[in-house]
Amino acid sequence: MYTDEHGNTWWKGNLHTHTTRSDGRATPEECAALYRSHGYDFLALTDHWQVSENGTSDGLLLLSGCEYDFGSRVKDGIYHIVAVGCLRDPGVVRADGPQTAIDKIHAAGGLADLAHPAWSMNTLAHLMPLAGVDYTEIFNSVSDLPANCRPYSGMIVDLLAAQGIFWKSAAVDDTHWYREDACRAFIWVKAETCTREAILAAIRAWDFYASEGPHAEVALDREKNCVRVRCPAEDHIASVVFFTDTAWTGRRSTVGTDLTEAVFPLTGRETFVRAELRDAEGRSAWMQTTRIKNDE
Ligand SMILES: [Zn+2]
Ligand SMILES: [Zn+2]
Repeated sequence: MYTDEHGNTWWKGNLHTHTTRSDGRATPEECAALYRSHGYDFLALTDHWQVSENGTSDGLLLLSGCEYDFGSRVKDGIYHIVAVGCLRDPGVVRADGPQTAIDKIHAAGGLADLAHPAWSMNTLAHLMPLAGVDYTEIFNSVSDLPANCRPYSGMIVDLLAAQGIFWKSAAVDDTHWYREDACRAFIWVKAETCTREAILAAIRAWDFYASEGPHAEVALDREKNCVRVRCPAEDHIASVVFFTDTAWTGRRSTVGTDLTEAVFPLTGRETFVRAELRDAEGRSAWMQTTRIKNDE
């Protein structure tokens, strides 16, 4: 956790993890111990079709979790839905399909994550009909090298936003304990306490962002007609890029050394702005999409 300059507390967590209860290579106990030793405050164990329980492990908050998958052909749509924080087994079965799974997860008090859309090669036609997705994975560590490809789903988040569909962005490890897929990508969640209720409420309220290390804040300044990112000099930020639905626009990127601020002047055309930062070692932070105006 860290405390920002306004006195807010931000908790660190990974919401997508596999263990020996499905195809992961570490036991639940080993997972919890490793994440705790890397400064994580909460963790969801989300084995395939195996529901884990809410609880704690040596000070680490454990959120219940499970990953459900539907479909096997890209053409027809592959949907991996991760449940987090349910108060009981949502009772999802293979015949349900993604929308019923999402609805059952909500009925059980949990959050529904549309996992790794780039890895699943999801199209807008697959995703736009889904209602109630609480967040998606803008970055998924195990989908990156050395085991995989297509870890990054920012393009999909932006294509949905351009259609007026705003999905929150999380980063997760989807840890299988292959190589370099543990303790890499996570979310920072702003909450007064690190409890199941507070973490879920903050995620529902968009009070979190995705990161591999960098800290940042984004503000929409209506008076100065800009979106501003601020970040600490000690994070050694080397670039800040603003993604919008305007194909051509100036000031999209700010590149430098130990950046502390970047400003995107609104043109009046964009309906959303989303910022990404990268530090000198190539680690990213992915900020939530800011809605600027409704499309006319
Ligand atoms: Zn998956
Ligand atoms: Zn997974």
